[in-house]
Amino acid sequence: MDHLLRDRIGGAREAHGLDAYARAHGLDDLAEAYRRLAREVLAHNHLALGHAAPPQLAHAGTRRAYVSGGWWVVRCAEPRPDGSWGPGCRNCPHPEVGSRIAVCLTCGRVYDVEFPADADAAEAALLARGNPRTRNYFWHASHPLHLAGGRPETAASLRRENRARGLGRRGGR
Ligand SMILES: [Zn+2]
Repeated sequence: MDHLLRDRIGGAREAHGLDAYARAHGLDDLAEAYRRLAREVLAHNHLALGHAAPPQLAHAGTRRAYVSGGWWVVRCAEPRPDGSWGPGCRNCPHPEVGSRIAVCLTCGRVYDVEFPADADAAEAALLARGNPRTRNYFWHASHPLHLAGGRPETAASLRRENRARGLGRRGGR
């Protein structure tokens, strides 16, 4: 896996090679390919992950995607205002952007994924940053950074940051 995609913000397709996996198994549906891949991974890894038997895939609600280091992720567990965590393993599965699901490859939880309304504008602003590690977008208030007192970001705030770093012309509007 290339952890430093240069030309796009990555998701499950890039992280797990979902397109090639779907082709190899004759599947048209990337969401189904993602679930099948997850069942295989969990069947293979369950002992190392501490499960006596492979976890079944189970729908576990909706999660909001955010960008961390150039990748869309969701958190498999919601942080609570008091600093504790809700149900989930705290892994950071990648959403499949088209079908808007994420499957946790360590515990089997399946999430519907909500993206920010300004996702396209935010991606454009982030792609203006040459170093993929600086491509982060924390737009919703439940992220631990905001619980600690930071402010949720917007595509506009990303562009302001870009301009402050001399990247304004490529930041999009
Ligand atoms: Zn999990």
